[in-house]
Amino acid sequence: MAGADVKEFTVLGLKMWQQVLLGLLLGIIAGLLLGERAGQLKFLGTIFINLIKMVVVPLIFLSLVAGITSMGGSTSFKRVSIKGFSAYILTATFAVVLGIIAGVIFKPGAGLHVNIEEFAGSVNQQQTAVPPASVSDFLMNLISTNIFHSFAEGNLLQVVVFALLFGLTMNMMGGKAARARENIADFAAIIFKMIEYIVRLAPLAVFGFMAWSVGSQGTEIIVILFNLVVAVLAACLIQYLLFGVFILVFARLNPVPFYKKLAATQLMAFSTSSSKATLTTAMREIQTKLGVSEQSSHFLLPLGACINMDGTAIYLAICTCFFAQFFGIELTMIDYAVLLLTCTLGSIGAAGIPSGSIIFMSMVLHSVGLPIEGIGLLLGVDRVLDMVRTTINITGDCAITLIVDRTEDTLNETIYYEKA
Ligand code: ASP
Repeated sequence: MAGADVKEFTVLGLKMWQQVLLGLLLGIIAGLLLGERAGQLKFLGTIFINLIKMVVVPLIFLSLVAGITSMGGSTSFKRVSIKGFSAYILTATFAVVLGIIAGVIFKPGAGLHVNIEEFAGSVNQQQTAVPPASVSDFLMNLISTNIFHSFAEGNLLQVVVFALLFGLTMNMMGGKAARARENIADFAAIIFKMIEYIVRLAPLAVFGFMAWSVGSQGTEIIVILFNLVVAVLAACLIQYLLFGVFILVFARLNPVPFYKKLAATQLMAFSTSSSKATLTTAMREIQTKLGVSEQSSHFLLPLGACINMDGTAIYLAICTCFFAQFFGIELTMIDYAVLLLTCTLGSIGAAGIPSGSIIFMSMVLHSVGLPIEGIGLLLGVDRVLDMVRTTINITGDCAITLIVDRTEDTLNETIYYEKA
């Protein structure tokens, strides 16, 4: 969990976000110049999507099990971990609701009528789901009768349920499952690393997908993506302010020192797009500047960086609404309930690395029957939005850690109110 191991990947001195922006720009130009012929560049994006499909099943299984078991260990922190865990889940659920509301109000994907089959031309049937007809159907379909079959056909929700049961059972087994816990954490780390490498191809994928989209849909696609950016930024801003309200209400503290003293941490999150890379800075800052106890900052904060991503939850929810509108599909109440579950799980499972949530986007889209090829469209704006949602993610972790520390009576208020 050290911050130093996440280095910025550069090409010709360009940082990742600059490469993505360049890919976006060149893709738009190629699309405008080549028109329909730009479709030939789509394969660059398709390769990227296929790489994501390749790792999605092992990633979801390993990261969820690793996430659940990371809080099972020590008994001395049981009360704090239960408190922290519940608070993290509650804020994530809340963030999903906020994302859905923003998606419904802003309607970022409305305006174009894109044919779902045409768009997802190369969709592998196994990756699209038929939305459930009723709640009982949905619940019944969550349980796999043959988990290897579910793994092989990429039934992501069944994999999620299996992972949850697997992780919870490991927690109940305590020390007897210690070796398995370590092995799973190691395998999860390998898959996270693979994703970091895959994400390096994003600029090329953005180029291919933007050229194809602009070539076939025209410039409206840019307007639509701009609307998405506005919707995500608005929801993230609200979430950011809500953290202050939570601190005021639940910790009975003035939130101003929290915002002021967390500036360095937030800047770090913004510039690295990685909760993992920001963790060490955050741990130091909340201890020395906000007066949070060592126990909370060394335990709750890493737990949060692992399982709590409110910005990511917002993003997953808005993007799903965006795609439903984009393809002219009406989401039902059941779909929204499913979204509540899958976006929350996605924010638990996503890795705290740049574009960590992209893989979980496939699970969320799949859960309501949308094609995961849509992700290709997002790539151009994903990196910029990643900076913002990572800032929200880490601010949420710090806010919850502060609140729990205060309720445990271990917060040093003198340090908290000291002038920075
Ligand atoms: N980059 C985010 C983080 O590290 C995860 C995401 O892609 O949403 O917190």
